[in-house]
Amino acid sequence: MGELDLLVLGGGCAGLALALRLTDHGTSSPRTLVLEGREGYEDDRTWSFWRTRAHRFEDLVSASWNRMAVGSGGRLETYDCGATPYQMLTALPYYEHVQERIEGCGAVSLQLGARVTGDPVPDGDGWLVRTAHETFRARHVIDTRPPTPLPECLLWQSFLGQVVTVEAPSFDPQVLTLMDFDDPNRRGVQFSYVLPLSAHEALVETTVFGPQALAASELRGDLDRATARLVGGGPVSVRRSEHSALPMGLAGPLTPRPWVQAGLFHGGARPSTGYAFQRIQAWADTCAASLLGDGTPRAVQPDPLLRRAMDTVFLRVLRAEPERGPELLAGLFARASTERVIRFLSDLGSPLDALAIVGSLPPGPFLREAGAALLRRPLGEVG
Ligand SMILES: Cc1cc2nc3c(=O)[nH]c(=O)nc-3n(C[C@H](O)[C@H](O)[C@H](O)COP(=O)(O)OP(=O)(O)OC[C@H]3O[C@@H](n4cnc5c(N)ncnc54)[C@H](O)[C@@H]3O)c2cc1C
Repeated sequence: MGELDLLVLGGGCAGLALALRLTDHGTSSPRTLVLEGREGYEDDRTWSFWRTRAHRFEDLVSASWNRMAVGSGGRLETYDCGATPYQMLTALPYYEHVQERIEGCGAVSLQLGARVTGDPVPDGDGWLVRTAHETFRARHVIDTRPPTPLPECLLWQSFLGQVVTVEAPSFDPQVLTLMDFDDPNRRGVQFSYVLPLSAHEALVETTVFGPQALAASELRGDLDRATARLVGGGPVSVRRSEHSALPMGLAGPLTPRPWVQAGLFHGGARPSTGYAFQRIQAWADTCAASLLGDGTPRAVQPDPLLRRAMDTVFLRVLRAEPERGPELLAGLFARASTERVIRFLSDLGSPLDALAIVGSLPPGPFLREAGAALLRRPLGEVG
């Protein structure tokens, strides 16, 4: 590949999402190289989201649910989400799908085992990027690597999950459990999340929204207890595990960089939920259109002010009063219409949806946090 138009640093969800859009344009795509540090891809995560619109990964969806449960302990309420089913995509088919598309496209390539060292360096009207073995030059750079060190966040969404198989039928494959606040609150707002794949198999996760990012070892005991409760203590075999700590609202702006940044920490994750897959895909659509249009890459656009303000206040309330988390989160689904909540959580909420969400929450803690935030800085700015 000769002179490059674009270097993409990191070939995970965001880097590959953009590469995929560029392959749509064959040889008229900008000449692009994705540098990925990993030697190969594994089935390292599952992405789930409400199908609020048709998308290009329908064939990769491995499970889908029309009903979801939210509540505490045995008292779970079930909500119908059939109009926007909750879908699950496992990562390896996504990585493989994009790799296949890249292989058939002359203008876009992917180099695995290419760990980028340091920051891009300006070079005339372009950038130099180094790996341990090579230096690359391109007109534009999009950096999807997580920042180092990791920034401070208002909250972290730490979770540990495992796909478990059991002999006795233990799960209802028709109903996913979005949040079951089944463990006493200790380190934040804690709940189990269960995606039943059959009566005998499920992805079971324990999640904590808290001020610290928790290691897998810190969540292991909770996950084992949650799994035992679900399967009645019988033997389980574990097919695969996943762990992460996702940012929920940055505590301050990241140091601005003169090259484009994207991905989870750069607007990819919705602050109040940590959901990122659909936002990253929407960014990839916009960024690819811009590259194909005027030739420039685009960062994620900031959320509208009202959404940012609501997310910030919500996160501050959960941080200040985590013991109220179950009541607030379960109350949201109990009091507002399911369609509205899903639209709001999927970045599609109208101002009316936002009003209904506000109306479904107890005013006291939110007014206190909104007042405190106003005294600190304008609403919508996190910090
Ligand atoms: C286990 C797990 C489950 C999740 N579940 C959901 C979900 O259900 N729904 C949802 O919406 N979101 C979910 N997320 C959040 C989010 O969708 C993912 O984190 C998503 O992968 C973020 O995309 P990204 O491209 O920003 O980061 P990544 O996908 O992590 O990609 C970053 C890439 O950069 C590479 N890299 C890092 N440093 C270098 C370097 N120096 N040189 C070269 N390459 C480098 C990494 O190897 C990686 O491949 C989940 C995240 C995880 C980890």
